[in-house]
Amino acid sequence: MNTPIPFLSFDYMNACIKKDVMTAFEKFFDSKHYVLGPELLNFEKDYSKFNEVLHTVGVSNGMDALTLCLEVLEIGTGDEVIIPSNTYIATALAASQRGAKIVLVEPDPFTFNIDTSLIANAITRRTRAIVPVHLYGQPCNMDALYAVAKDFKIPIVEDNAQAHGAMWGNRMTGGFGYVNATSFYPGKNLGALGEAGAVTTNRQEIADKIKLLRNYGSKEKYFNEIRGHNMRMDELQAAVLSIKLKQLPAWTEMRQQIAVWYSEHLHQVENIAIPHVANKATHVYHQYVIKLYHGTNRSKFQKHLKENGIETMIHYPVPIHLQQAYNRSNYKPGDFPVAEHLAESIVSLPIWPGMTEAQVEYIGNTIKKFYGE
Ligand SMILES: *Cc1c(COP(=O)(O)O)cnc(C)c1O
Repeated sequence: MNTPIPFLSFDYMNACIKKDVMTAFEKFFDSKHYVLGPELLNFEKDYSKFNEVLHTVGVSNGMDALTLCLEVLEIGTGDEVIIPSNTYIATALAASQRGAKIVLVEPDPFTFNIDTSLIANAITRRTRAIVPVHLYGQPCNMDALYAVAKDFKIPIVEDNAQAHGAMWGNRMTGGFGYVNATSFYPGKNLGALGEAGAVTTNRQEIADKIKLLRNYGSKEKYFNEIRGHNMRMDELQAAVLSIKLKQLPAWTEMRQQIAVWYSEHLHQVENIAIPHVANKATHVYHQYVIKLYHGTNRSKFQKHLKENGIETMIHYPVPIHLQQAYNRSNYKPGDFPVAEHLAESIVSLPIWPGMTEAQVEYIGNTIKKFYGE
């Protein structure tokens, strides 16, 4: 293969939407209404319909969406928030931002999602929320999560940043929790051309409160009911997201097809584990993550692919409890062995709408060659 395969390419997606985006940009430019206008209202309506929720509130980014979810639940100092030990650090930072203590729970070693059988043990008098993350686009076990949340009467806040359109049974992620967060960071399955995120909920009073909080605590200009923030999504991002949302189902199908191709090419390779998808889960493959078994030198593996023009990534190389940012929490290596083992043994392969079967086959063959097959 002569052309290198990047880890992520926007080329195909951008070509699909370029004409519509340029038209929308001109309309946006001439409208002279740049923040909290009709485009945002439109997108919020469109996304609610897509996500099968009653309310979507567009905000500045995914981390702010998470923080707002915790704020609306009045979570703060002295409270505890349960999150998986292997997730992007934003999930943890949102809780820390509120002054709450993060309580980490290990993932299931096969799905890499929070091990729901360990949650009850992590709950204390101070637990105020459980934040499942649908990692890489695979939904968590929402039946088990519901059961434990109901037993202990603790609200669920989904971090749906990686799973737009994923389903557990016949219900979409982002609609299970009391109030939920998502991100439209450019590289997500639904990505803006800059920063954006959203809060989704089926509760009117919660949506109203989030709308106040994102806009300085104000409904009417210069009258501030509560102490809020500036966490608004701008009109241009909203317009772009509405355009991209129309394509999302087709783009998701492409990701799923690419995953099928990968699995066909890789399932017989002895030294790697391909993604394990739970029975009731519809995975949307934000990432296609394989696990290399003991004995594989991961840097050599990545170097071999790189030399053959294939870019790979690690999601994520350092678990939260070993990040310097959390060194005051007295965690040490060995505290979360499953997360630590994953951080050492996983590799994310390229996956993006527009990738061809030939490219996947080439990656499969390059991996087989590495193992001398
Ligand atoms: C991307 C991401 C976030 C943060 O979203 P931003 O829009 O970058 O702030 C939070 N949680 C998870 C799991 C993510 O992947």
